Amino acid sequence: MKHLLSIADLSQDDILAILDTATSMHEVQDREVKKLPTLRGRTIINFFFEDSTRTRSSFEIAGKWMSADTINLTGKGTSVSKGESLRDTVLTIDAMGVDMMIIRHPASGAPKQIAEWVDCSIVNAGDGTHEHPSQALLDAYTMRRELGELEGRHVAIVGDLTHSRVLRSNLLCLRTLGAQVTLVAPPTLMPAGIAAWAAADGFEISYDLDAVLPTVDAVMMLRVQRERMSGGYFPTAKEYAVTYGLTARRLSLLQDHAVICHPGPMNRGLEISADAADAARSLVLGQVSAGVAVRMSILYHLLAGEGSTS
Ligand code: ASP
Repeated sequence: MKHLLSIADLSQDDILAILDTATSMHEVQDREVKKLPTLRGRTIINFFFEDSTRTRSSFEIAGKWMSADTINLTGKGTSVSKGESLRDTVLTIDAMGVDMMIIRHPASGAPKQIAEWVDCSIVNAGDGTHEHPSQALLDAYTMRRELGELEGRHVAIVGDLTHSRVLRSNLLCLRTLGAQVTLVAPPTLMPAGIAAWAAADGFEISYDLDAVLPTVDAVMMLRVQRERMSGGYFPTAKEYAVTYGLTARRLSLLQDHAVICHPGPMNRGLEISADAADAARSLVLGQVSAGVAVRMSILYHLLAGEGSTS
């Protein structure tokens, strides 16, 4: 495996191999000296054309804990803001001899296009509304840790599905692992063509959160992405919170063992209440900590593992 562009490129065995390696990587987090020699001498560029807290810092920490040299670039501080084309910019960086570029870009498909231009490995760290594969892998890792194998487990993915790259990657990942998935959103935030996809792939669609919650093992709340919305997708924030938010009242609808996930950043009071975000069954911070381990595993599989280009 040279690139990580889409979950669609991974088989069930590939996903499980990444999750299993992440389990051993997770132990590093509890050590006093958090350093493995695995990627000594390797250079990784984090190239982020969109804001990020979790993804960028956890990829950087992952690289550092594995002894790679990591460098952060953003669209703003580079020659892209002087009018240089994306192709020229990434070819320039590639020519310096880096081993990997981790790319976040507002255009869906940008990492794939870059992978066709350059020689180094490319990781998609979120492209427009398309995919966010490392997020789906860390979500699967976190839920699997809590619930055991995900085959046959029921996961609801709720909220702003239209604008969500997390949804697309999670749907592919969870279905590949054999989980049952139900998507819940107001009709205005259901992606176009989802009914045909659901029929072909065997997942469910619902507009009734109260009816779905008692049946799930995990509920994944997605952020309302106002920065990607050009029109009015729902009347008011209050109405959205009442109809589709994970409110304190809705917590009581969950089975005892059911867990709550959110990829972050959270809009507290909108898609998720403080009661849900801070509940004992909330895995939100667990997802963040798993993010480092899973990203270490991704770096390992692409740069050092069997079948890598090293
Ligand atoms: N952090 C995730 C992403 O970059 C989710 C979000 O922004 O809502 O896609």
